[in-house]
Amino acid sequence: MIYNTLGKSNLKVSRLGFGTMRLPTKANNADIDEAEASKMLTYGIENGINIIDTAYPYHSVGLDGDGNSEKFLGSFLSENGLRDEIILQTKSPSWLMEKHSDFEHYLDIQLSKLQTDYIDVYLLHSMTVPDWNRVNSLDVLDFLDDCLASGKIRHVGFSSHIEVDYLIEILDEYPKWEVVMTQMNYLDEYYQSGVMGLEYLKQINVGSMIMEPLRGGRLVQNIPDKVQKLWDMAETKRTPVEWALQYLWNRDDVDCVFSGMTSFEQVRQNIEIASRQDIISENDQELIREVARTYRTFLGNRCTRCGYCMPCPHGVDIINCLTEYNIAHMMQNPKASAMQYFSLIDEDARAENCVDCGECIPFCTQTLNIPEELEKVYEYFGDEFDHF
Ligand code: SF4
Ligand code: SF4
Repeated sequence: MIYNTLGKSNLKVSRLGFGTMRLPTKANNADIDEAEASKMLTYGIENGINIIDTAYPYHSVGLDGDGNSEKFLGSFLSENGLRDEIILQTKSPSWLMEKHSDFEHYLDIQLSKLQTDYIDVYLLHSMTVPDWNRVNSLDVLDFLDDCLASGKIRHVGFSSHIEVDYLIEILDEYPKWEVVMTQMNYLDEYYQSGVMGLEYLKQINVGSMIMEPLRGGRLVQNIPDKVQKLWDMAETKRTPVEWALQYLWNRDDVDCVFSGMTSFEQVRQNIEIASRQDIISENDQELIREVARTYRTFLGNRCTRCGYCMPCPHGVDIINCLTEYNIAHMMQNPKASAMQYFSLIDEDARAENCVDCGECIPFCTQTLNIPEELEKVYEYFGDEFDHF
C-alpha cells in the first residue's frame, strides 16, 4: 500500500480509503451482510487500508434515516480491537440540523453507534450552498471549535457538492478545515469544484479526499465498444478500474481515494492496484481525455447511483430508472436496456409513477431535476415493452 499525508492534518493515510456506503446487503439496503462485510474489512485492513469512511445515513431504509453502516462498523472495530488502529471518518447529517444543539445531539448518537469516544475525521456531510448557509446560520463553526477543544473530534472538514467559487468561500471562512472530500474522476474534471477545487486545496494544504472515483461504476461496467476500442489502443494495457484509479493517483493534488466496495473481489482488486506505482504517461493522459470525450457523447444523465434520493415516497425506483436509461444511451442498444428496464423494475416503480412532488430533488448530489429526468426515461421506454 502507498500512503500519503492528508494535508495539514498530517495524518498518513492509505491512498485507497474504504467507503462503507455500498457494503454487501441481504434483504434490503439496511440489512448488511455482516459476515461478508467483516471479511472485506479484515482483508482491507490486513493489506494496508488505514482509513474507513462512513456516515449517519449509510445503509438506512429512509431518506433521513439512522443507518446501519456506523453501527456495524462500531461493532466490527470493537470486537476486533481495531478502533485505535484505524483512522475513523464519519459525517454529520447536516440536513437534519434545525437548531445549534442538534449538532452535538447527532454527534453523540454517532459516537455511541461507533462505540468510541472520538472521531478522527468528522465531515459536514454533502455540503451544497443552501446546506452550508443553513448550518452556518446555526453556528456550526462554534460547535466544531468546541469539539476540537474537547477532543471528541480530532480533524474537521466537509464533503462537497459545490462549485469552486463557493468551495473557496467556505474554505476561507474557517482556518481549521483540514480535509475536504470532493467528487472527481476523469469524466468530472470540470464538474462541481473539479480540478480547480483540488488545486486550491493543495495550495492551502487542506487534505483532499475523492468520492465517486468510478462514477458509481459507470466507468467500469457496460463499457461501450467505442470506449473499449480506445483502451485497446493504449501502449500499456490496463483494466477500466486501473485507468480510473491510476488517473487519480497520478495527480499530486489527490491524497486519498474512497471506493465504496461491495464485494471481496473489489477489495482485493483495488488493493492490488493501490499498492502499485503506475505512471500515467502524456500519451495515456491524451487517451483518457479521448475516452472522456467519447463517454460524454453517450451520457443520458449524470446519475452516479449514490442513492441519496431514495426512497421515493411514491415508490419510484429512481436509481434503476435513471441507470437503465443511461445504459441504453451508452451501449446504444435500446432494446436490451428496455428488456432490463421492464424485467428488473416493478411496474409500480417505473418512471411513469413519478407524480412530480419534488421531494427527492434537494437530496440529489448531482443537482438533477429528478422528475424531469424521469419524464425523459418514460418518453424513451414508454410503459410497455412492445414499444420496442
Ligand atoms: S418527484 Fe417523483 S421521483 Fe421524486 S420523490 Fe416525487 S414522485 Fe418520487
Ligand atoms: S438521482 Fe441524484 S441522488 Fe439519486 S442516485 Fe442519482 S445522483 Fe444520486
